[in-house]
Parts: sequence; structure tokens; C-alpha cells
Amino acid sequence: MENLLLLAHTETDGTLGKNALEALSAAKNLAAGLAGSQLSVGLVGADVQSAANQIATCGAARFLAVMGAEFAQSRYASDAAATETLAKAAGARLIIAPAGSRWNRALPGVAQRLGGRVDTHVTGLAVAAGMPAITRWYYRQRMEGTLTRTARPWIVLLESGCAPAWSGGAGAVSVEKIPVALPPLRTTVTGLKSPPADEQTIRPDAKLLFVAGAGWTKKQADGQAHAAEAEQLILEFLRHAQASLGSTKSLVDLSGEGQAVLKFMSHLNQVGQTGSTPRHPKGLATCCHGEEPHTVGWRFIGERRAVNLNAACSWAQGKADVLYVADAFAVMREVNRLLAARLS
Ligand SMILES: Cc1cc2nc3c(=O)[nH]c(=O)nc-3n(C[C@H](O)[C@H](O)[C@H](O)COP(=O)(O)OP(=O)(O)OC[C@H]3O[C@@H](n4cnc5c(N)ncnc54)[C@H](O)[C@@H]3O)c2cc1C
Repeated sequence: MENLLLLAHTETDGTLGKNALEALSAAKNLAAGLAGSQLSVGLVGADVQSAANQIATCGAARFLAVMGAEFAQSRYASDAAATETLAKAAGARLIIAPAGSRWNRALPGVAQRLGGRVDTHVTGLAVAAGMPAITRWYYRQRMEGTLTRTARPWIVLLESGCAPAWSGGAGAVSVEKIPVALPPLRTTVTGLKSPPADEQTIRPDAKLLFVAGAGWTKKQADGQAHAAEAEQLILEFLRHAQASLGSTKSLVDLSGEGQAVLKFMSHLNQVGQTGSTPRHPKGLATCCHGEEPHTVGWRFIGERRAVNLNAACSWAQGKADVLYVADAFAVMREVNRLLAARLS
């Protein structure tokens, strides 16, 4: 029998985030397919009662909780102690957790403490021949592998955007509080630093990924580059559409070459073989020709559209669902005008 444990931490407002709800629905599905299995939920946070109530009807057999001020924020020592204790209290053989900076950092060490195994960057959970199986991508998202393990406990970190978020009703749950023996804590979390909201261009939960290519900074029909206007058009679109911003490698590399650049771009925006492979329902690429951003970076984008002056660009070779052969400056000027009119 597989004893499953879904591990989740609360967000700053005390609720469970989308990633945690996605991991919950994946864990529930898996438990339903494994004969005789039982699913428990293990919650970590300052106070997890409202998070437990939020998922009261998920069908978990037990709601285990590690609570207290020490568990409000991400810190390896307290997170590892909390999750190790929860895994033992649940008698968990299979531990499923949403992949995020907090669990990605703590859980590999917990697997070591438990004498178990861990798999990160998992994109799917299924049952194969009566055993739990996972899928993940290899070689920069070019090959997908399915694997099972006999070793237990087995910790699985599920990437975001790979399962529907659980959306059942709330209720009142009686949580089992599990005491944790904390080691001496040497790290004090004094706060978080993040850029102001209007500089935040990477939004993993956005419905749309907008990819900018190096064409935005190249000489245009009038023989001049128009980087300043490009910046203004892109930022205005991002603000209106609340889209996430991706970039090609060429565009983010330009800053190192002293060329006209889009100042808000960094290598964190880069998609592709040596960048990220985000998951958004829709994508719009502009002034972008390269192979890597399309084939690899856009692998998990649902509906793909592109704007390029060149009808023979790589997008035209079957990568985009729709290719607009047009000047991206003119297109985005008009799109922004329409969006502003709609929002006003
Ligand atoms: C090992 C390796 C790994 C790599 N990894 C990555 C990676 O992870 N991510 C990545 O992005 N690249 C990667 N590259 C680089 C990649 O191969 C391409 O060189 C790069 O993506 C090209 O960037 P681009 O499309 O922005 O620029 P360009 O190739 O210069 O294309 C610019 C495009 O803009 C269009 N354009 C210009 N003006 C306009 C306008 N007004 N309106 C509409 N269209 C316009 C042009 O027609 C052109 O198609 C990698 C390369 C190697 C060798």
C-alpha cells in the first residue's frame, strides 16, 4: 500500500497558493489510481488552519500540521525539520510537493535524512502497472522520460502548470498538530526584497507570454534603431495585458556588447535551450527569429502566435499557429491603443 503525503506551505496571507493546489489535484488523482492507498496532507506555516479549511473537502484521510512563527518563512533548517517530521508522522512512502524555491531547497536534504530518494522538475504523475510513475524532461526539454522507483520514501517535486488546480469546497477541518524538535537556528529571516510591481516582468501565472527578439533593437525601415520606442511599447503592453515577458538570447546578450538595449531585460527573461521553458496558455513572439526560443522555449506554450517582417522566419516553419507578417512596432502600437480603449 502506498501512503501518500501532499506537502504544502502557506503563502503570506495564510492560504495555499496555486502550485500547492495543482500538486494536491495531482496527488489525489494518483492516490485514486493506486489500490489501497491513502492520501494525507501535511501543512507548514505560521498558522495553517485556514489553509486546511480551504481544502477541507479534498478527501485527505489526515490533515497534519506544523505551525508556529518559526515556520512562517522559508529557511532550510526549519523547513527540513518540519517536513521530515511530517513525513515520519504520516508514515509516508510517497511524498508529493509543489516545486517552488522553498521546497526545492529543503526537500532533497529531507530525502537524504529519510534514507529515501527525490526527483525534481517532475511534470506528470501516473500509475504504470500498478506502480506510481513520474514523467520529466531531459536534455534541455528535448526528451521526455517516464520512470518508476522501488525505493521509498520517494519525494516528488511537481512543476507548476502541469496539473489543474484543485478547486473543491472549503469547510472546517480538525488538524493534527505535530511538534517539531528544531535544531539551533542560525539563520534569521529579516524580510524579502523584490522589485517594485511595475518592474516585475516575469509572471509565471500570466495567461500570456510575450517574447521580444533582437529585432526590436535593429535598424528599421528608416535606417534608425528605435529602442526607446520599443521599450515603451513593450512595457505598455505588459502593463495592459499583465503578460509575462520572455526574451531571446540575442536580445539579452546585447547589453554586454554596448548596443541599444531594452533596459528592463535580463538573462532571467531568456527562454530557450539555455533559458527557461515557461508554461503559459498563450504566447506572442515579436521580432524574433531564432530556433532555440521556438523549439525549446515554447515547448509548453498552448497557443503560439508571432509577428515578424520576414515571412520565411523560423516561426513560419510550423512553429507558430498564426504568423502575422507585419511590422511589430505598428502592430503593438495598435494593440496598445485597443487595449487602452478597452481598459479606460
Ligand atoms: C548552444 C546554443 C544555445 C542557445 N540558446 C538559446 C536560448 O536559450 N534562447 C535563445 O533565444 N537563443 C538561444 N540561442 C541563440 C539562437 O540560436 C538565436 O541566435 C537567437 O535566438 C536569435 O535571436 P532573435 O530571434 O532575437 O534575433 P534575430 O535572429 O536577429 O532575429 C530578429 C528578427 O526580428 C525581425 N524583425 C526586425 N524588425 C522587425 C519589425 N519591425 N517587426 C517584426 N519583426 C522584425 C527580423 O525579421 C528577424 O527575424 C542559442 C544558440 C546556441 C548555439
